[in-house]
Amino acid sequence: MTTIDRNLQRVHERIAQACAAAGRPPGSVALLAVSKTFGAEAVHAAALAGQRAFGENYIQEAVEKMAALRALAPALALQWHCIGPIQSNKTRLVAEHFDWAQTVDRLKIAQRLSEQRPAHLPPLMVCIQVNVDGGATKSGVGPHDAAVLAEAVARLPRLVLRGVMSIPDDAPTFEAQRALHERAAAVFHHIKAQGFEGLGQFDTLSMGMTGDLEAAVAAGSTMVRVGSGVFGARQYAARC
Ligand SMILES: *Cc1c(COP(=O)(O)O)cnc(C)c1O
Repeated sequence: MTTIDRNLQRVHERIAQACAAAGRPPGSVALLAVSKTFGAEAVHAAALAGQRAFGENYIQEAVEKMAALRALAPALALQWHCIGPIQSNKTRLVAEHFDWAQTVDRLKIAQRLSEQRPAHLPPLMVCIQVNVDGGATKSGVGPHDAAVLAEAVARLPRLVLRGVMSIPDDAPTFEAQRALHERAAAVFHHIKAQGFEGLGQFDTLSMGMTGDLEAAVAAGSTMVRVGSGVFGARQYAARC
């Protein structure tokens, strides 16, 4: 068994325990393995252990890794999620290469992604990124503006609005972590309750990382994004 195998097993156990503690069915929380800064070999090892969904922050790095994986393991159908900031000049790469874009926080970016999604690919799955703790320099739409953005994004022809994602700041205790995650959950439920058109597959609440996945599951997360818990410590700090 490799280290990545053991790590994946441990993360799955943590998710299962958190589901049990929250009275949620096991399997109601998906694992996105965040492979930023790790090479294609690490992704390959995780894929051989059964992991299929990977999250990447840096678009150019991700596109190169995807090509390497196609060469290493052409038969493995991997799913790629963009979880880093998307600048206007990077929308085409995202639209052409990713399956999901979780960090949509402006209509202009969503429009470009929709226009640039190639016709031969299925629609791009997207989440609205919500900034739940108000850091002015942080990405994400404010909770009060999220529903308006969601309604406009849901109308775009080549996107499917799947849910809400958030990256709250670190909080010192479980209860403080949970309170922040509950803000994102409230936005998710508020949008769902609007019932506007295009919410047919609105099922994803992407929140929780290595350090706070239990609190996120307690607050209703359906997708945790785990990097260091799967791949080990990163060699350089995330830029976002
Ligand atoms: C890096 C990153 C993660 C994973 O963080 P870990 O603490 O290593 O689990 C999750 N989500 C986003 C948006 C990230 O940038």
